[in-house]
Amino acid sequence: MSYRGRIAPSPTGLLHLGHARTFWIAYQRAVQHGGTLVFRNEDLDPQRSRPEFERAMFEDLQWLGIRWTEGPDVGGPYASYAQSQSRSFYLAAWRELRDRGSIYPCTCSRKELAQAASAPNDDDEPIYPGHCRGRGDASSFDSPAGVNWRFRVTDGEPVSFDDGHCGQQSFVAGKDFGDFLVWRRDDVPAYQLAVVVDDARMKITEVVRGADLLKSTARQLLLYRALGWSAPAFYHCDLVRDASGQRLAKRHDALSLRALRENGATPESVIGRFELGNELRKPG
Ligand SMILES: [Zn+2]
Repeated sequence: MSYRGRIAPSPTGLLHLGHARTFWIAYQRAVQHGGTLVFRNEDLDPQRSRPEFERAMFEDLQWLGIRWTEGPDVGGPYASYAQSQSRSFYLAAWRELRDRGSIYPCTCSRKELAQAASAPNDDDEPIYPGHCRGRGDASSFDSPAGVNWRFRVTDGEPVSFDDGHCGQQSFVAGKDFGDFLVWRRDDVPAYQLAVVVDDARMKITEVVRGADLLKSTARQLLLYRALGWSAPAFYHCDLVRDASGQRLAKRHDALSLRALRENGATPESVIGRFELGNELRKPG
């Protein structure tokens, strides 16, 4: 099977040095394997996605020298390459999970969730205390809209995988993460479901992304299994931190590709700042 990688930026802000480093590694791994790189626009959230950020992400990644052969701008055999245009695929997966009894409707209000949740670490999804487990009748729903939908994990089940960069990873369902969202009450599919559906239907063989998503990978492996799909390989890159050790976020405007460019940086000088070290060793 030939290598298929992907870069999947969200148009919710300007891309910064951390995103650029991860996407550069994804590009280089596709090149090293003589494979295909797919560009996927993760514009799932209609409230936060902006056309100006969408334009900027295409321009900035092209400026950096990243080249893709499938994407929203160039087409390809697995369209759509924009999440906002892929709803039918997500809905089909939602129906499948509903029919298999893997998900349930959650009617907890935002306030109830905030009160019951254990404190979230970083921006990770807090562990759901399970109030709606076994309550609603999923089969009575023809469409997901109006309530939150959660994937029911098996408490205490270990989920392990061998990451291409970070090595052996192990998480425990019900302890490291709980019943996670697959569809939001405002009728937007949740990140975990959309990413699994897209990576599967685009035949991605290796997912390269930031190490902040290691735990999400454990959730996603449960979705692959529940849907009866085989999972890709995973390669999680080190996160870029600022001078004070904070993970780069969209608030670090000075380290956006746009700002670096406007201040005279060249693509070579930006790539030189990535400190790629052993992350770009030749694949064995
Ligand atoms: Zn609930």
